[in-house]
Amino acid sequence: EVCIGVLALQGAFREHLACLRKLPRVHAVEVRTKEQLAGVDGLIIPGGESTTMALIAERWGLIPELRSFAAGGSPVWGTCAGLIFLADRATGQKEGGQALLGGLDCLVQRNFFGAQVDSFETQLPAPEPLSALRVSGAAAPAPGADSFRALFIRAPAVLEAGASVEVLAEYRLSPTEAEAQGRQSVAVAVRSKQLLATAFHPELTDDLRWHLLFVEMVRERLRGSSSLRKRGPDS
Ligand code: GLN
Repeated sequence: EVCIGVLALQGAFREHLACLRKLPRVHAVEVRTKEQLAGVDGLIIPGGESTTMALIAERWGLIPELRSFAAGGSPVWGTCAGLIFLADRATGQKEGGQALLGGLDCLVQRNFFGAQVDSFETQLPAPEPLSALRVSGAAAPAPGADSFRALFIRAPAVLEAGASVEVLAEYRLSPTEAEAQGRQSVAVAVRSKQLLATAFHPELTDDLRWHLLFVEMVRERLRGSSSLRKRGPDS
């Protein structure tokens, strides 16, 4: 069993917990303190309001703990506000900026889709790591497994991603948006080593594959670290 924490300072943390609790061999807990953080194998930073979340994390003295959790190689998945929080650079911030955890070599724009529409949903092609996942017991992918429903709520977008960052999903801009932005598409799901970040909200759909993908990243990391431990100091 793996233990996944959801940062529960603000935002859509209950929805993530509910998704995780539907997955086999996953123990899901709320994280509000550094003691709770120390007990989890992976962490989800939910959507919400990234400035508020950063303020609460700062006030509770959690920023350094969260940074060292991610820097120590523990998997972290940020959705929406969580994506902003994980980015090295962000634009569209409020006056005075906001603390970012960083770690993800990306430039993120807050409320990227805000000027056009506050919230919308669309069907996007499922990236290979997602379409390759099998719901337990199924031999073949379910119909529609090659795409997923993406829900954007005052969502950010990734404008630039460094060489270490793998783009898992992109959103094609409409001709008018493309004209205004001087680009055809923006990245909306990225992965870099043990960090996963999505601009949309899988926790608000009944598709559990993004959660499963993250749980797999956590299992992968645990297998790696236990084989290191098993090898011991002198072998
Ligand atoms: N617009 C929010 C922010 O900038 C993010 C929205 C969300 O998480 N759904 O933090």
